[in-house]
Amino acid sequence: MASRYLEPRLERASRAEMTRLQLRRLREQVAHAARHSPFYRRKLRGLRPDPARLRTLDDLRRLPFTTKDELKENQAANPPWGDVLAVPLADVLRVHLTSATTGRPLAFLDTAADWHGFYHSYARSLHAFGVRKADMVMAAFSYGPWIGYWSGFYAAQDLGCLVYPVGGLSTEQRLDALLTYPITVLGCTPSYALFLAEAAAKKGIDLAKQSKLRITWHTGEPGASIPATKAKIESAFGVRAYDLPGLTEIAAWGFECDARAGLTHVHEDYVYPEVLDEQGQPVKPGERGELVFTSLYRKAMPLLRYRTRDIVQLADRRCPCGRTLVAFEGGVLARVDDMKKVRGIIVYPRRIEELVRPHRDVDEFQIVFRRRDGLDDILVRLDPSPALAPVARERLGETLARDLQLGLGIRVSVEVGEPGSLPRWDHKARRVTDERTEVPF
Ligand SMILES: [Zn+2]
Repeated sequence: MASRYLEPRLERASRAEMTRLQLRRLREQVAHAARHSPFYRRKLRGLRPDPARLRTLDDLRRLPFTTKDELKENQAANPPWGDVLAVPLADVLRVHLTSATTGRPLAFLDTAADWHGFYHSYARSLHAFGVRKADMVMAAFSYGPWIGYWSGFYAAQDLGCLVYPVGGLSTEQRLDALLTYPITVLGCTPSYALFLAEAAAKKGIDLAKQSKLRITWHTGEPGASIPATKAKIESAFGVRAYDLPGLTEIAAWGFECDARAGLTHVHEDYVYPEVLDEQGQPVKPGERGELVFTSLYRKAMPLLRYRTRDIVQLADRRCPCGRTLVAFEGGVLARVDDMKKVRGIIVYPRRIEELVRPHRDVDEFQIVFRRRDGLDDILVRLDPSPALAPVARERLGETLARDLQLGLGIRVSVEVGEPGSLPRWDHKARRVTDERTEVPF
């Protein structure tokens, strides 16, 4: 398929060509940051050899990491932008905020060229999903300072698609648009996709039959890379659903491959990825580690060795799509910050979602980490489908408790509530609470 690639020269570059390109951009970025960003000037001071004289990509490992906490502290100490900024403020075109669960969100600035880089990498992901010029696209993210809506909108427009703007519209208005206009592509968080499907079902609308949708893409949360969550979205909308991982501070850095071999590729010409073990050493193919990115294109806030806190597994096989871009198995597998310890066992909420979603009779769920009689305990609350007979609810709870115990290796309490009793999420979901660390009020 000749048109599979938007930029075949880059997507199928030989390793030597890609390394040459990365090294050139890396040198440029490090020199730019060291010269123009007060934050990096301090951080890189006194480093031998001169950071601008990186001989190989491995030399990057001599430079220190950058963390999100560091950036937040920097902005708190020098409000409102901090001093990472490496261009005059007059050259800045856009500001976006990261979504924060605690504290003030990070403000991220871009020049016109930076912004083009962000949405163009995103466009390359959309193209990989099969989105083309003839498509009509709805990017159903919140209209505001978050990057999700803007990047989805600009990326679709970059491919020449007709974009229907729905940032400020209600779910009802969005459903109406899906029935009225020939919208073929929908982008949203996986939680919102499920929310939208439920809202349609309540109105007796079958989106798989009554809309023209053929592709959905999902970002903001890793749900679409969980097979059961993806299957649920695909059957509700009658589409192929794809996961698009991205970070406001880095890029729309990759895409779930259209070859459907379970691999996620990285736009290596925009971002240089490292996958590191706990000692900061690169993992071998087939192993897991924390994903660390160095931006190869952003000039306003040129992040070097940025710790994403995302766990990925470096692929040890070639992808059948013919691309040579680095690939990870199954997208972002876990977030370091989401890790919970329960009675000595490590539990990731994503694993619980993997075990809950295959049950078609569960519409929504919630996870509570709590202390019971002095012992750590996990409570999973289920919101059953209204179609499930009340007598069958108890059995659903028992089946799930068994699956969770088998899958996690510890006993889990399960509660089945009334249909519709748990909150739904129209942006990023907040399904997890940890009562052990949160102060009750
Ligand atoms: Zn591929």
